[in-house]
Amino acid sequence: MPTRLPLIAGNWKMNTTIEEARNLAQALASSLNAAPDVEVLLCPPFISLTTVGNEIAVTTLKLGAQNLHPDPRGAFTGEVSPTMLSGLCDYVIVGHSERRTLFGEDDAFVNSKAISALAHDITPILCVGETLDQREAGTTDEVLTRQVTRGLDAVTPVANFVVAYEPIWAIGTGKAASASDADHAIALIRRTISEKLGAQTADRTRILYGGSVKSSNIGDFMSSPEIDGALVGGASLNAEDFTAIVSGASQSR
Ligand code: PEP
Repeated sequence: MPTRLPLIAGNWKMNTTIEEARNLAQALASSLNAAPDVEVLLCPPFISLTTVGNEIAVTTLKLGAQNLHPDPRGAFTGEVSPTMLSGLCDYVIVGHSERRTLFGEDDAFVNSKAISALAHDITPILCVGETLDQREAGTTDEVLTRQVTRGLDAVTPVANFVVAYEPIWAIGTGKAASASDADHAIALIRRTISEKLGAQTADRTRILYGGSVKSSNIGDFMSSPEIDGALVGGASLNAEDFTAIVSGASQSR
């Protein structure tokens, strides 16, 4: 059995001013620096990456961006390139459902972001997940298989990437998936990775659950064999809540 280091990632989304981000990072730097059995990642807004990066520089916490444009430079007003993030960020989230739904990003564009991140030594976190309609229509497995297969096009078996299973109906709703449903979906994702990139890659790739994770349910998710951590939205904006999630993850492994 491969040992996959659990990863708890906080996606701050479009929240926090630079000052608020600094305060949150400072609080987390002191409460979370001693959890070597869980990797902890903070994904603040672009404008706070440097500030948060400085606050966590001497800690074990990792820094991630919430998005990137696949091109290294050019006439893309308002966008941020992998060249700008390279050396600053360890990770970048690609294909979050809010990007797919609100900004029209399709599987091919998400894939180009993942490829570009890898080419710049940034680990992509590929987000996949079904809508409530797709779940009710019984097409969850089909949707996940398609998003993972297309999202990983042209990715090589040696590449380091993370996948986050985030059912859209569970994001920000307070209605998390059950641990057994999440485990089932993540097992399917792992099989899909195995078919595309081989069993070794599938075995070592971390697959997270995301959607209304809190300190009261993290234990259930982390006790499930397929689930390697969590992508946390709302609860990552409060230092106490996020610290409790990381502690819960650490205790449940
Ligand atoms: C997310 O947006 O990735 C997320 C999981 O949000 P929340 O934890 O608030 O459901």
